[in-house]
Amino acid sequence: MAALNFFHCKSICLRVFAAILPVLLVSACAEVPITHRSGLHLVPDSELISMSFTQYQAVLGKSQLSTDARQTAMVRQVGMRIANAAETFLKESGSPGTIANYHWEFNLIQDDKTVNAWVMPGGKAAVYTGILPYTRDETGLAVVLGHEVGHALADHGNERLSQGLLTQLGGMALAVAVQSQPQQTQALFMQAFGVGTSVGFLLPYSRLHESEADRIGLTLMARAGYDPREAIPFWQRMQAQEQSRPPEFLSTHPAPETRIRDIQAHLAEALPYYQKAIR
Ligand SMILES: [Zn+2]
Repeated sequence: MAALNFFHCKSICLRVFAAILPVLLVSACAEVPITHRSGLHLVPDSELISMSFTQYQAVLGKSQLSTDARQTAMVRQVGMRIANAAETFLKESGSPGTIANYHWEFNLIQDDKTVNAWVMPGGKAAVYTGILPYTRDETGLAVVLGHEVGHALADHGNERLSQGLLTQLGGMALAVAVQSQPQQTQALFMQAFGVGTSVGFLLPYSRLHESEADRIGLTLMARAGYDPREAIPFWQRMQAQEQSRPPEFLSTHPAPETRIRDIQAHLAEALPYYQKAIR
């Protein structure tokens, strides 16, 4: 998405920051962990987290949770291992960042048609049963949850929501938008965090975000003791699934070969953490 590119350079980020200062409660241009890119985060975390808790309960209320105790336990266990790895990583890096106040929760939603997983602010996460045939085991699930927690660590949702508020609601602050345009704001929120679509996990908001989440995810899964090399066969399985989708869907995606090549290039960064974790 070309529209997102103007967020990706620090100087331009600061220019945008100055231009919208009068109308938005501005938090900061924050640095993305591991990739060190500067991203624009206009929505205060407290507002995001409070909206997230409401929306999470709403989604769970409308969904059917899996009754498979073994699969649900697996989702929670892998999720917590990835979440702990993320917290340790941020503590070691000296910047606990926005996830310091997260209260992690992982639920498995019974929906075999939805190949999706997401993490809302505050650490509220869901996995849909439709993705389990592709993840196959704990390590495959760690690829998915590493990727999703990677989006959370990089604050991509805030960046997407900030862009949505700017372009669709004239730069309205979230708290104001929730009051004056509740439905549109809720739609923007869900879209920013990949909720409510059957292809959310596959649908990149920008190639840059996807590639950052892949890279951070590799390190997180490795730190949690899962072999990051397994990300490659996982994405090959997803690629096989994507090929059965219509061409217009494929045209909005990063080329699967590019994604797998990028993952291969970043394995060297993640592997030492895995070797240390399993020692
Ligand atoms: Zn993603």
